[in-house]
Amino acid sequence: MATECNGSKIPEVKFTKLFINGNFVDAVSGKTLETVDPRTGEVIATVAAGDKEDVDLAVKAAREAFDHGKWPRMSAFERGRIMMKYADLVDQNVDELAALECLDAGKLLLFNKFFDIPIAANMLRYYAGAADKIHGETLKLAGEFQGYTLREPIGVVGHIIPWNFPTAMFFYKVAPALAAGCTMIVKPAEQTPLTALYFAHLAKQAGIPDGVLNVVTGYGHAAGAAITSHMDVDMVSFTGSTEVGKLVMEAAARSNLKPVSLELGGKSPLIICDDADVDMAVGLAQNAVFFNKGEICIAGSRVFVQEGIYDEFVRRIAESSKKIVVGDPFQPHVNQGPQVDRKQFEKVLSYIDHGTREGATLLAGGKPCSEKGFYIEPTVFADVEDDMLIAKDEIFGPVMSIMKFKTIDEAIERANNTRYGLAAGVVTKDINIANRVSRSIRAGVVWINCYLVLENLPFGGYKMSGFGRDGGMQGLEKYFQTKSVVTPIYGSPW
Ligand code: NAD
Repeated sequence: MATECNGSKIPEVKFTKLFINGNFVDAVSGKTLETVDPRTGEVIATVAAGDKEDVDLAVKAAREAFDHGKWPRMSAFERGRIMMKYADLVDQNVDELAALECLDAGKLLLFNKFFDIPIAANMLRYYAGAADKIHGETLKLAGEFQGYTLREPIGVVGHIIPWNFPTAMFFYKVAPALAAGCTMIVKPAEQTPLTALYFAHLAKQAGIPDGVLNVVTGYGHAAGAAITSHMDVDMVSFTGSTEVGKLVMEAAARSNLKPVSLELGGKSPLIICDDADVDMAVGLAQNAVFFNKGEICIAGSRVFVQEGIYDEFVRRIAESSKKIVVGDPFQPHVNQGPQVDRKQFEKVLSYIDHGTREGATLLAGGKPCSEKGFYIEPTVFADVEDDMLIAKDEIFGPVMSIMKFKTIDEAIERANNTRYGLAAGVVTKDINIANRVSRSIRAGVVWINCYLVLENLPFGGYKMSGFGRDGGMQGLEKYFQTKSVVTPIYGSPW
């Protein structure tokens, strides 16, 4: 049953337990964690906090389902059919899911309803359709032998996901792994466990066999670490911070040397050239940084503006950023909701404080904007220097740093001067400049005169933004092993 608050429908939280082997169960230890409404700081629900013992049970179920169950053995077409049903169930429950995500993560209700959740359902459909289109190769070998390759699912996969896009991240990982015939344990972020548990319930309704998809909610140092160091997990697909990505890789190496795929942090450059349409550039830059309250790994948070339009751009972006409506994400007129939790809220404010103390010019925002909850004004700094903390660190909040440049070569060099390499953008009418920038920037995606558009493109990082790709066919490939088989063509020579 839903309740009302300020005219908004607040959904009932139906699922709060671990989902293991097709059942909702308490943590073995009985431990729980509280998930908090970022609009108020109040507790929404108490959710099971899984530990090593729970991960052991989930891995056992996933192992059994992989080694002896139907899912890896059924035709890929049949797996695709069940995934299509799963996608339909996600669509049918969109209102409740959108509200749950809004409540748990502070993300805009309308965005969840019309973009995030429908896109996630389509991701399931994309991989459902791709499931039966993965083939091996046949080769004629020297000495009258023939060889062929089998594409086999990699096995039991551990998916560890962050809180900024709980739905998209869930299906970015789960959809291709299901299509490949893997079985899995998903560990959602402790800040946003609610939609993942709902998706587990829908997976069962869709007919995904017990043990194939398990969800263990809990803390990273407990449930997350137990997955990465587990001897019976065959692969880990991680999205989160670079700092934790290093721990994941270390734990994988120290245990059974499982392969890992790491989608990590970013500090992406957006290069705006003198010939840009300033109106368009302002809108694009604003969206690139403030979308999803700046809690987005691909945020174009280092904005390099060429000297000819710098003053006008700075004036216009300051004006337009002040018009962004910050408030309750359930309300349709609101553009920006609260940061996900108190820790993130305080972290962003401390970076803003650094920016001011380091001498950057604060053009807009800079303060919390509500008595309660974790709301922060969209904040714009100009005259930022490359060595300031706000130009180097991933803030993961609504903070834009603007830097001036003279030549394109200089902009490219400065844009690449970062430990990260997740995304980049360039705004120009000159195709030669656009081509030069897109080929020179070391990042997993470069947008020309647009930003944030991804759909089914392979997505991932260069440098310390990680390795491996989610999305597209590359996002499916990583859940397969290749086995080579050789036979003599005319009978054994031995
Ligand atoms: P985080 O690294 O703190 O946590 C991510 C996940 O890892 C959570 O589920 C957490 O519980 C778990 N975790 C924490 N410690 C662990 C450990 N020792 N072992 C195993 N798991 C552990 O990141 P976050 O704060 O949830 O998310 C923000 C970060 O995620 C940002 O750096 C952002 O750039 C990044 N991110 C990257 C992408 C991408 O695709 N590249 C997408 C979204 C977010």
